[in-house]
Amino acid sequence: MIPRVDLPADARLDTLAVREGLPPSRWGENSEALFLTSSFVHPDAATAAARFANEEEAFVYSRFSNPTVTMMERRLAAMEGTSGCIAASSGMAAILLVVMGLLKAGDHVVCSQSVFGSTIKLLQDFARFGVETTFVSQTDVAQWRAAMRPTTKLLFAETPSNPLTEVCDIAALAGVAHAGGALLAVDNCFCSPALQRPATLGADLIVHSGTKYLDGQGRVIAGAVCAPAELIDAKLLPVMRSAGMSLSPFNAWVVLKGLETLSVRMQAQSARALELAQWLEAQPAVERVFYPGLASHPQHALAMAQQSGSGGAVVSFVVRGERAGAFATIDATRICSITANLGDTKTTITHPASTSHGRLTEAQRQAAGITQGLIRVAVGLEHIEDLKADLQRGLALLA
Ligand SMILES: *Cc1c(COP(=O)(O)O)cnc(C)c1O
Repeated sequence: MIPRVDLPADARLDTLAVREGLPPSRWGENSEALFLTSSFVHPDAATAAARFANEEEAFVYSRFSNPTVTMMERRLAAMEGTSGCIAASSGMAAILLVVMGLLKAGDHVVCSQSVFGSTIKLLQDFARFGVETTFVSQTDVAQWRAAMRPTTKLLFAETPSNPLTEVCDIAALAGVAHAGGALLAVDNCFCSPALQRPATLGADLIVHSGTKYLDGQGRVIAGAVCAPAELIDAKLLPVMRSAGMSLSPFNAWVVLKGLETLSVRMQAQSARALELAQWLEAQPAVERVFYPGLASHPQHALAMAQQSGSGGAVVSFVVRGERAGAFATIDATRICSITANLGDTKTTITHPASTSHGRLTEAQRQAAGITQGLIRVAVGLEHIEDLKADLQRGLALLA
């Protein structure tokens, strides 16, 4: 048996974020240890046999079990409110794990058309293995319901979406999934469990790119799936064991320590994002702002109810002057990092039409609302007045 940390059953998220994991080793370390070891030693051959046969719970081999990785999994599961979690080498590996673990040839998936680009590509690639996907509107629940088939096994959503921050109704989608005997998976990258806990709204699986807010400081690539422990043990762990998209103990340790500050970072970064969004709305060179925390956002009420009253830390906006206007604004910044990554304490700025959505045709981009004047800012922890000044420099050129 792998022991548990002795915590009160009603411990809250902030407490779980710094305390859940494994009990310390016999040396009594206060900060979690990094177990850089590929395998674990057994006291005798019979015990080794029992552990390999899954008759005795123990650490065996770091492709599928490692104490540092287990600490991260237990902590994230506690924060998401699920009984289980399995870490993966990246956010995409976590999604691959879900698809490989749950689906077989002949099965059907319904997915939002506004999810992360690589997720769309991955699901399209699975058509080669007989798994078909229908892509539907992020916000229109009727489209999800209409797309359901007797063979539908999985619904996949991501909310808020990137970069337009469209919000989908997790509880409504869980209802559609369960009425059809399917499971709902939610990519909770943009809000993290600090703001949004999809399991409490009926989602069955929560996928994470730990690369983003969970690490929070842009250091490692990591991923995870949170779900009921029985589902993980029956469907996902066997895939991890045979396919080996494992998270390294070092990267797990970085994410584990990142989770300790997740809540305060999300609150501070979201507060800055709200202030920046309000300020942007008042700028003459800005034509439109997309941010769930603004009353002007089409799903503002739903977002506030679903995201602990917070809009998150990503703000997108359209500037005057199309692509030239966007490039001038981006190039005038001296603080923001010009990169497509997000979820960092360093504010990042990107032009979606020529980067993350650059491989779409102009017609596809227009349909998706990714116009040439659109800029996405993932707000970090710099002083808000410095960030405003950083953007003002470029906007002044367009006014
Ligand atoms: C980055 C991202 C992913 C993929 O995560 P990686 O860790 O880069 O593999 C998946 N979903 C969303 C929403 C993301 O932003």
